Amino acid sequence: MDHMPNKLIILLSHCLLNQTTRAEETITALATEKLLQLFSSYPIHLEQLSCPEFLFMGKRKKRTKDEWEKIPGFKKFCGELADQIKEGVKRFDGKEAFPLVTIARSPCCSSGEVHIGKRIFAGKGLLVEELEKRMKLELVEFDFRRVAESIERLKFLLEKKWVVFKEKL
Ligand code: SF4
Repeated sequence: MDHMPNKLIILLSHCLLNQTTRAEETITALATEKLLQLFSSYPIHLEQLSCPEFLFMGKRKKRTKDEWEKIPGFKKFCGELADQIKEGVKRFDGKEAFPLVTIARSPCCSSGEVHIGKRIFAGKGLLVEELEKRMKLELVEFDFRRVAESIERLKFLLEKKWVVFKEKL
């Protein structure tokens, strides 16, 4: 069994490293490059999660959370994906909450706000909700509309984790 004791484990929403899976193939220039630059400064294992929307539907238009909820089978699919993710991370020592980088306003991967109808409400995405039913997570949000601010937020988390991690080595 691989516990990867010398690395911080960070779970990543899929499109942070592969933006071609985003709805309407939206690309935010340099966001992935800046993220990788940040991650390369830490001894880190990046666990890229699957993209629920792309796996279920492939190329698609943007939808709100309530629209996704109405698609037959999609909620169940998110639950099954969350089961697989939970199984997958068992190979790490999972006593503490796993940091998960979520995506601002995503119907599946947000940890702060979601679009319901034409309005935005406080709430989490469908996959994040299912994951939280199964495992302990420390959620930190990445906003493709605010890349610099998001990178700073992540840097803060990584520094905090790194300090604790070094003490255990
Ligand atoms: S936010 Fe989640 S569902 Fe949306 S593209 Fe990224 S990984 Fe896929």
